[in-house]
Amino acid sequence: MLGGDGAFPSPGGACSGYLVEHEDFRLLIDPGYATFPRLVTQVRADQVDAVLVSHGHPDHCADLSALLRARTLGSRPPPSALPVYALSDALGPVLGLDRVGMLDRSIVRHEIEPGSHLTIGPFHCATALLPHFLPNVGVRLSAGGQSLAYTGDSGPSPNLLPLAEGVDLFLAEATFIDDEAEESDAPSLSSARQRGTTAHRAGVRRLLLTHIWPGTDRDELEHAARSEYSGVVATAEPGTVVDLAPRTGRHESF
Ligand SMILES: [Zn+2]
Repeated sequence: MLGGDGAFPSPGGACSGYLVEHEDFRLLIDPGYATFPRLVTQVRADQVDAVLVSHGHPDHCADLSALLRARTLGSRPPPSALPVYALSDALGPVLGLDRVGMLDRSIVRHEIEPGSHLTIGPFHCATALLPHFLPNVGVRLSAGGQSLAYTGDSGPSPNLLPLAEGVDLFLAEATFIDDEAEESDAPSLSSARQRGTTAHRAGVRRLLLTHIWPGTDRDELEHAARSEYSGVVATAEPGTVVDLAPRTGRHESF
């Protein structure tokens, strides 16, 4: 995990950003604010094989600009163009930060059709449209017998259960602890308690809460999720590493 803050980065923190690796393929999900400096402590910019963006809010994609600049300007010769998967129109603002054409040779854009299935490197990727302030795609990645579901940002939706059904890791936005969301936010964002309910119903192996509002008490957040879900719960932090390989004969943990 490169970060887990929602909306804007906390002091020393970073917003959504998740580096998923399998068979030496590195898929970066949601390069949000302040994730790029953390990314390059783990891998070089030219070692990212593909990027997937859930939606166009800058706390989920602002540092795509830094990543593409580093690949374009930071190495000679530049690496091959980076495949970036996103919904139609999601990347216009972040790619518009540079002069027209500057990054064209650094990126190959792949438009996600919500509900479609994709193959990205070794990952099978199922997608589902989830409700947010602007179009947001949830994804379920499968590779090597392991699976991960990621919500992006979303309010309640019938699409969540099939997306998360039985996954090894449910990475779920939890902007709120319980029912404190404003009426205007409730259809577009979720609480830790709601994520616990989904985790329970979907029978997930582990629940990792993310998109945490800066200043939120992590213990309260995890407690709210545990009130609905008896499995393992944690909160995404920069540096959190989750190994999805099966662990026979040992207690589940992060
Ligand atoms: Zn958002």
